[in-house]
Amino acid sequence: MTSKTGVPLLFEISSPGRRGYRLPELDVPEVPVDELIPTEYLRQQEAELPEVSELEVVRHFTQLSRLNHGVDVDFYPLGSCTMKYNPRVNEDMASLPGFTAIHPYQPEETVQGALELMYNLGTYLAELSGLHSATLQPAAGAHGELTGLWIIKAYHEANGEGHRNEIIVPDSAHGTNPASAMMANYKVVEVPSDERGGVDVAALRKLVGPKTAGLMLTNPNTLGLFDENICAIAEIVHEAGGLLYYDGANANALMGIVKPGHTGFDVVHYNLHKTFSTPHGGGGPGSGPIVVSEQLAPFLPWPVVAKEDGRYVLKRPEKSIGRVKSFYGHFSVLVRAYAYIRSHGAEGLRQVSEAAVVNANYLMHHLKSLYHLPYDRHCKHEFVLSGKLQKEQHGVRTLDIAKRLLDYGVHAPTIYFPLNVDEALMIEPTETETKETLDAFIAAMRRIAEEAENDPESLKSAPHYTPVRRLDEARAARQPILRWKKE
Ligand SMILES: *Cc1c(COP(=O)(O)O)cnc(C)c1O
Repeated sequence: MTSKTGVPLLFEISSPGRRGYRLPELDVPEVPVDELIPTEYLRQQEAELPEVSELEVVRHFTQLSRLNHGVDVDFYPLGSCTMKYNPRVNEDMASLPGFTAIHPYQPEETVQGALELMYNLGTYLAELSGLHSATLQPAAGAHGELTGLWIIKAYHEANGEGHRNEIIVPDSAHGTNPASAMMANYKVVEVPSDERGGVDVAALRKLVGPKTAGLMLTNPNTLGLFDENICAIAEIVHEAGGLLYYDGANANALMGIVKPGHTGFDVVHYNLHKTFSTPHGGGGPGSGPIVVSEQLAPFLPWPVVAKEDGRYVLKRPEKSIGRVKSFYGHFSVLVRAYAYIRSHGAEGLRQVSEAAVVNANYLMHHLKSLYHLPYDRHCKHEFVLSGKLQKEQHGVRTLDIAKRLLDYGVHAPTIYFPLNVDEALMIEPTETETKETLDAFIAAMRRIAEEAENDPESLKSAPHYTPVRRLDEARAARQPILRWKKE
């Protein structure tokens, strides 16, 4: 295998004896390796590793990083992912030695500062959500969903209602919602959307009943639309004895404006790696804390941080569902989110949400004359266009539009999601982009709409200017080549 990107693989430039490091003299007694590691685990032959200089390694990884698109490079309107700028002050805080040089096995008295940070962060998230108490353990949004569903289940069981085995999920839901419900051993019941893109309330009324454990909802939903019927929806579900789970992965439209707890939700998860600006993409580490109502607090995973007589202590809630993650979750991610919240303050967080909504509506307004807009109403942090006009009139698919955007230096929006929009293009600009960047994006989308009309064939073979051309993404996901092998 050789690199298709033009960046030589380190294995290819390896030269015997070349090295980029020198270990210090041993200053402890030498122990033979087979006393440390059982012989059956020791390799019999030397590993074939690339032998390269430090400069070659630096060049290799720097060149690779320049092939990649990131929010530090250019616009990244990947809907539902909230690819906002990650302020560098977060990184400064996360690298303070008081945070990096501590160990989770240290006694509580010696890590009061870290516990205080976790306690405060939980309190802030509770304040934002309008709910009672938090766990910071879940490692991602989907993990928060699973934790929240386990809590809902434990709650019903504690009330002698363990027979409730159905979770209702709208057809516009993020894929993790039904997946989490399945993993928590629930039957997934789908509720359709109405013509305005919200939950079909009449249909919901028919679906709830004695088997309903709860409803999972994102509001604003994946179409970027706020469901004005939310209080009625909550009433229907609560009257049937179910609970409401809020998928707050993208809370970027609501901070300081609407508290999900005040609209009837019982459990909320937040993605710190979206709304609260901790870096993401490429698989982690993320963080998906959940906040629950007072009646669900006894079921939270342990340990939770509590404050007693001015000291921070670790507690096990009375009916805890157990641990969902080793130690305390992804602590350095928590530090970054805490720094973000503290540096913005309550007013600042509200401004973040206001600007995110204005940016999305600005783009939607300028793009709806070029691409079909299936739900033409004010959006929140994102909106969904459809490429169906381009498909019907010129045979150009949404995939082609997305690929062509890469030639204009923009990351593609989320495509073919949500599933209830044909040829969907889901666009989320976030608040951190300037008007100039948004205008450049509109211009690129306009040029692509013109190209679809005048030169559809060239769109179908886009991208033309990226380091690699159109890739077989399905094969890359199903049969990834993750190891170098000598030819
Ligand atoms: C991103 C997202 C999730 C899942 O979050 P992960 O951290 O990727 O597990 C769930 N719901 C919505 C609406 C999302 O956008």
